[in-house]
Amino acid sequence: MSTPSSEAVANVGSFDVAIVGASLAGCTAATLFARRGLRVALLERQADPEASKRICTHFIQPSATPTIERLGLTPAIEAAGGVRNALDVWSRFGWIRVAPESADHALPYGYSIQRAKLDPLARGLASAESNVELVLGASACGLRFADGECRGVEMETRDGRRRVIAARLVVAADGRRSKVAELARVPARVRPNARAMYYAYYRDLPLPSGTRGQLWFLEPDVAYAYPNDDGLTLVAWAFGQDRVAAFKRDPEATFARRFADLPLAPNLPAGTRVSPLLGQLDLANLSRPAAARGLAFVGDAAMASDPLWAVGCGWAFQSAEWLVESTADALATGRDLTPALARYRRRHRAELAGHHLMIASYATGRALLPHERLFLSAAARDPVTARRLAAFGERLIGPTGFVTPRTVGRALGVVIGERLRKFGARSPVASHTEVREALEG
Ligand SMILES: Cc1cc2nc3c(=O)[nH]c(=O)nc-3n(C[C@H](O)[C@H](O)[C@H](O)COP(=O)(O)OP(=O)(O)OC[C@H]3O[C@@H](n4cnc5c(N)ncnc54)[C@H](O)[C@@H]3O)c2cc1C
Repeated sequence: MSTPSSEAVANVGSFDVAIVGASLAGCTAATLFARRGLRVALLERQADPEASKRICTHFIQPSATPTIERLGLTPAIEAAGGVRNALDVWSRFGWIRVAPESADHALPYGYSIQRAKLDPLARGLASAESNVELVLGASACGLRFADGECRGVEMETRDGRRRVIAARLVVAADGRRSKVAELARVPARVRPNARAMYYAYYRDLPLPSGTRGQLWFLEPDVAYAYPNDDGLTLVAWAFGQDRVAAFKRDPEATFARRFADLPLAPNLPAGTRVSPLLGQLDLANLSRPAAARGLAFVGDAAMASDPLWAVGCGWAFQSAEWLVESTADALATGRDLTPALARYRRRHRAELAGHHLMIASYATGRALLPHERLFLSAAARDPVTARRLAAFGERLIGPTGFVTPRTVGRALGVVIGERLRKFGARSPVASHTEVREALEG
């Protein structure tokens, strides 16, 4: 809630939208609102226009590519060396490598590009819009409410001055530890993460998969290697928090051993290590209602899921676009914002809640569930199941779009068919035992 206005607090103007946080979500929202003719104040506590998020593994899922294209960021990302990403996935059932349906059918792709390049590109795009006033070095420190609805944000600049920006809509794009959410008393629902993550960057590291990334389901650990721009490859290992103390006794050797033991392992000594071994212990899954009391939350401020699945950047772009689609007309015409915000909140939940819950469930460190084993097993053998599973991992379809009777039936057919072939075909009709065994992997 706001501090009472004081003489030191000057009103610096009125905007349609005030956005707190000029990273991926905030800059996307600012750019798209401005293109709808709305006046936007974009506040960022970092003073440096080139500032970027340091802790990220830079893999943006294909679900965000349409938004990135609509923003017009694609040429700049490609010119900066952004890699069109793709992934080979290993589980105990073998490798899954998605192949296009036919020669003229392109696979969906996202981008892998260092945040040190991406964040300034997104900020440059927003600040180039004449309707966007980017205020750097300004931290949101209070909110203004009228009739129970948020109507402005108070900011403190580096010189200690406090000012108020009045706006019809205040947007929290200030990350997982959202200050705006704290001020508005909108707590996050926390779902714990049993894994910690350690990672490092290598230059010119040859991967057996070529330019494609690799991900290993090691049950319960997960490891991955993602190629990025500038010949940098990120190499990461997520494992139980309960093993961190043992890991810390000899982190470098343990990390190297873990990777040396992987199927089709990248040969780490063949690359040049260009970073320290970085660790992240607090990877809890957080979610908030995406709109409340005249406020909207986008990106991590609305939902921050286990980084293992590399969904946060994509969802930052996408949720910002959904917010603009839901509210821009009401803002432009002066209509009541409440239904528009309710629409955004419903869309956010419909698009992301299922993904988030599945991610949070796997973050408990649990074993793979029967249907997960079934899909991994079938996808390692069947290109159609592989493409469906990839579309789910790329967040192009949700859990209900993926786990359909058709997908389950096909996966069962693939796995049971293989068993029948292996043990000599007896009957074309699978027995209950065969179905159960297929599900149990
Ligand atoms: C270890 C790790 C690895 C990850 N790897 C991936 C990955 O490979 N792929 C992926 O998609 N996602 C990944 N993520 C998640 C991803 O980094 C985030 O989802 C993404 O940065 C969210 O963007 P955002 O714009 O919502 O918030 P942020 O990028 O967190 O930006 C918030 C902005 O708000 C500003 N701010 C904060 N408080 C204030 C304030 N009071 N006033 C003004 N400004 C403020 C901050 O300075 C910052 O610029 C990873 C996360 C972690 C922790």
